[in-house]
Amino acid sequence: METVLVASEVAALVPAKDLDYLRDAAITSYTCAACGEAGRVPEQPAAVVLLREGSFSMATLTHRACAPSAVFDIPGLQARIIAEEETTTSRVFSAWLPYPALLLEPVSRVSVGEGDQVHGDRVDGLASWLLGHGLHLVATPAVEPPAAPGWAAELDGLDGLRVLSPTAELIYDGTLGPDESWRAAVTDQGACVLLAGAGLDLHRAPATAEELYARLVAVAAAGRLVGGTVTVRPAGQG
Ligand SMILES: [Zn+2]
Repeated sequence: METVLVASEVAALVPAKDLDYLRDAAITSYTCAACGEAGRVPEQPAAVVLLREGSFSMATLTHRACAPSAVFDIPGLQARIIAEEETTTSRVFSAWLPYPALLLEPVSRVSVGEGDQVHGDRVDGLASWLLGHGLHLVATPAVEPPAAPGWAAELDGLDGLRVLSPTAELIYDGTLGPDESWRAAVTDQGACVLLAGAGLDLHRAPATAEELYARLVAVAAAGRLVGGTVTVRPAGQG
């Protein structure tokens, strides 16, 4: 029996590489979009669901026991994904590539309907939103991406971090693992490279710099890596 169920109506709309990504992710761990609890195949069989609003869509996973593999049209999906800053639980990681880079893996929970919650790892949707807000498609992490005017990373104390879009949406608000030399370097420069993409698996710390680089290359090859050189400033000076 398939441990990740994909209905034909879902398979028709989700790129094969995204389905592969979800199948892989389900083995490590996934967050059920219906109940918000963790799962892992094969112990908890999963289903791929496509959440959609017009041309905006996101493929994600549910426990098969919680929801069938199907396409769900959800009014206001995009606005809810982007706007609900308190539900953003994105992951960040500081890295030297060798230039100092801030890696961001968007993960979001979405409110749907009357108090229902949709949770889960977004496969796409956010990348296209970020592109529309001035970040650039990144073909390879070997080349620093161009400036992304209006984007800012605010550093606060030893480990606080906020990432803001040009239209002041709070993309990340949390902590960044302490790396004094990284913070000093980007503070001196007043800038750093921001790279964002689903599939970076930042919840698993890379064992080596090479492993992290390979993940970036893979996400870039899938057309899901976006980025730009963004302003770095101390918190409270925006
Ligand atoms: Zn569930």
